[in-house]
Amino acid sequence: MTLAVENALLDGERVGLRCEGGAIAAIGPEVAAQPGDEMLDAAGAHLVPPLVNGHTHAAMTLFRGSGGDLPLMPWLEEKIWPVEAKLTDEDVYWGARLACAEMLRSGTTRFWDMYWHPGATARAVADAGIRATIGAPLFDLHSSPEELREAAHRGLEELAGLGPEITPALAPHAIYTVSEESLRWIGELSTERDLPVQIHLSETEGEVQECLARHGARPAFYLDRLGLLSERTVLAHGVWLDPEELALVAERGTTVVTNPVANMKLAVGGVFPFPAARAAGVAVGLGSDGAGSNDSLDLLADLKAFALAQKHAAADPTAIDAGEAWAVATGATAPRLGATALEPGAPADFLLLDPRSPELGIGELTAGIVYAAAGAAVDTAVVAGRVLMRGGEVPGLEEVVVQAAGRAGRLGL
Ligand SMILES: [Zn+2]
Repeated sequence: MTLAVENALLDGERVGLRCEGGAIAAIGPEVAAQPGDEMLDAAGAHLVPPLVNGHTHAAMTLFRGSGGDLPLMPWLEEKIWPVEAKLTDEDVYWGARLACAEMLRSGTTRFWDMYWHPGATARAVADAGIRATIGAPLFDLHSSPEELREAAHRGLEELAGLGPEITPALAPHAIYTVSEESLRWIGELSTERDLPVQIHLSETEGEVQECLARHGARPAFYLDRLGLLSERTVLAHGVWLDPEELALVAERGTTVVTNPVANMKLAVGGVFPFPAARAAGVAVGLGSDGAGSNDSLDLLADLKAFALAQKHAAADPTAIDAGEAWAVATGATAPRLGATALEPGAPADFLLLDPRSPELGIGELTAGIVYAAAGAAVDTAVVAGRVLMRGGEVPGLEEVVVQAAGRAGRLGL
């Protein structure tokens, strides 16, 4: 299957793009369609890379609007965990399908997921045509390290051999829900099988205080001691990482994904120290976190919140500029998140942004994307050379919304 895009604007220059076998075959001013190509006339739309959502719990779309005004621990213990115990594959499948549709509509074509029934999420991702790194959440707070190991192996089995769009990962929930013994084991398994690891870290100040009291070290140093701070590891949040921790995280090649909207909604009381992380050389990405705690999956909207929170926390409007914020959202500043460039040989994943949208018609494009636009400015999304959205329409969305609402109703949500 071949696809040709004509009349797109890339950095202000009119270009064509051809896709073959899911990859970009050619891109540039001279590139034109060839006989037999599926044709897509961009009509002057802006060609940009898609966004990478570095941390979410896709199927938590089912929990949207449930207990949204509670603090983190009561929210988890009273509203989330009891319902999660009743989830089935079909619940997770439709919750994740809804998440995939929302992400696609707002320009995200790759995400990192931590959720129950990972095989069901993988099926949803494959059916939606996008890409994800997926791990079953691992806890042994109310179970044993043996049970955690079984759960880890079961999760990996569900995700084995599913094709290039799905990357299996290990997803220990957090340092306060997984024992030292299990964290150490997860680090060894990650090394042995070259598996990515995603974990919530330093989301609240209380977590840091508890770690100091129980382990005599701040969270990043504690993880490092257990062999879990590596270039394969992605830390979600990192709000309370201090300068010494940031230096260590940079040295280990570990990625941090900041989730500004979820952090503000759960009122964690701080802002991820992006300027210090940048100065230390930390790879940083952007995430939405789950729809249970955001509640949107529109990463383009979160991008504005990210930039504003950084400026506000630093009391300095130059703390981050639009170009840098955009690079964080597209994964360009965090290579381990899996983003690819718009160049020949790379996967044919890209967006067309509508130049006639009110937010992008006037002024510098990147500033418009970061500060003025939200997901609605995305006109077209292409993944692996397949047009998954055109004119802002995701085929089959209506059915997905109905099915997901039905599953949420079944769960009493
Ligand atoms: Zn999370």
